[in-house]
Amino acid sequence: MWSKSPLPRIAYFSMEYAIDASIKTYAGGLGILAGDYLKGSKDYNYPIIGIGIKWKQGYTDQLIDENSNVYDTYHNYKYDFLKDTKLKVKVKIYEKDVTCKIWLLDKFKLAPLYLLDTDLPENDNRWITNQLYGGFEDSRLAQEIVLGIGGVRALRALDINVDVYHFNEGHALFAGFELVREKMNTGIPFDEAVKKSKEEIVFTTHTPIIEGNESHSISRMISIGANNGFTIEQLISLGGCPFNMTVGALRLSRISNAVSKLHGETANKMWKNIKNKSKIISITNAIHIPTWVDEDMLKAAEDSNSNNLWTNHIKNKRKLISFVKERNEIELNENSLLIGFSRRAAPYKRSNLIFSDMKIISPLLKDGKIQIVFSGKAHPLDDTGKDIIKNLVNFSKQYPSSVVFLENYDMTIGKLLTQGSDVWLNNPRRPLEASGTSGMKAAMNGVLNLSTLDGWWPEACRDGINGWQFGDGLQSDDIYFIDKHDANALYEVLMNKVIPTFYLERKKWISMMKNSILSTKDYFSVKRMLEEYYSKIYIK
Ligand SMILES: *Cc1c(COP(=O)(O)O)cnc(C)c1O
Repeated sequence: MWSKSPLPRIAYFSMEYAIDASIKTYAGGLGILAGDYLKGSKDYNYPIIGIGIKWKQGYTDQLIDENSNVYDTYHNYKYDFLKDTKLKVKVKIYEKDVTCKIWLLDKFKLAPLYLLDTDLPENDNRWITNQLYGGFEDSRLAQEIVLGIGGVRALRALDINVDVYHFNEGHALFAGFELVREKMNTGIPFDEAVKKSKEEIVFTTHTPIIEGNESHSISRMISIGANNGFTIEQLISLGGCPFNMTVGALRLSRISNAVSKLHGETANKMWKNIKNKSKIISITNAIHIPTWVDEDMLKAAEDSNSNNLWTNHIKNKRKLISFVKERNEIELNENSLLIGFSRRAAPYKRSNLIFSDMKIISPLLKDGKIQIVFSGKAHPLDDTGKDIIKNLVNFSKQYPSSVVFLENYDMTIGKLLTQGSDVWLNNPRRPLEASGTSGMKAAMNGVLNLSTLDGWWPEACRDGINGWQFGDGLQSDDIYFIDKHDANALYEVLMNKVIPTFYLERKKWISMMKNSILSTKDYFSVKRMLEEYYSKIYIK
């Protein structure tokens, strides 16, 4: 398939991949996208392979202690099912050789995924591939050298010919450095090598928050060897000073994309002062339906004679309720409205927006009119994020029968929540959510979205028909003002639309569930997304 394909052959580079709950090579949305992308590539027979890292300890297993404090635990994971390619490549870190072993993951019905691993007896720096997003600046740079430079060398060792190198987020940028260096080794000067390499590289940007776009000091990069032989001036010509990985990737790619239409506008504004960058278009994210969507729900929605939508939904709601019982020893009520919310604990995602006015929300929780199940992790070094979780856990202690926090958010919880909730609440501060995919999972499972008009939702929302919006897309730099505005809007929709429809107009609710599924299942499927990647950025 690889050599015979008439389509461009793609090597997709990503720091994380969410394949299955049992493989700890992911942290969140970026990995979910990458995993779904490789699964879709397999389903639809695209010539795509993935390059990533075999994380020994994965991301944090994040737990809550009895004082509601969040703490991180790490375990060594073993993956007996990985195939040993018997191949190794070397990269230089602090002027020392580091050997990277190449494993192949070809289980789980996905395109071939090659994972690099430095945990070998011959290495002094075995730790590099220990923890996904773990450690400080030097370890991140070392990890990115393994992914990027090691990744390109792995492709050469594997003898895989590639037409397009696709960087999923700026982490993979050093792969571009290696493509440039390869050309320079044949005598081509830097500028021309950059120009030629650009032709082979495409880039997906994910982060609409300036601080979220990683940058490094030039001296650090040089001391660790991330410059890959480039001079200071050459480095700065790509990523500026300090060196910004997103800027570097925008300058070292032929074309770039943001991950929703709104994010495309945001990204273009954000980077408008960057010269010599590639054009940023939009390709909205999507999900791998067989991984996330209950087939019975899809079938029931498609069959106009079927009355099974509600019965099937209740089956999924019961699964979630029994999981909560098992984990947290709390028995939720299947007849009461269940709101799901699960996000990385970052301030702009405003996990506790719904608790803004306790006078309004407290009676609803006490009467059992609404129940909320939260989940989500904070980055291990993010104390603000951990406080957000602590705050949610404290609310769950205050309202033990109607507020639940599920610790250690992962794919299993993600699936249960987006299948078993009645409503999927999402309230990022616009326009800071690049896309979001959990809302797509919910929508296709007949779980109604209740969301600000951020990320993917403006493209799908038909207010009152397939879910609800609140906040009318208002934006403001005045955080106090916009949070109050959005909280009021949330209450208004919750009290006047969501709750009455759920309890008093069940028929209408069920027809909204059906609309939700039918209006999202095609457009937000990886099938459409892969077609767009090919037609808009892979094929010149
Ligand atoms: C779907 C999913 C995500 C992505 O969700 P968003 O918050 O919508 O970006 C992250 N983590 C897990 C475990 C998921 O299942």
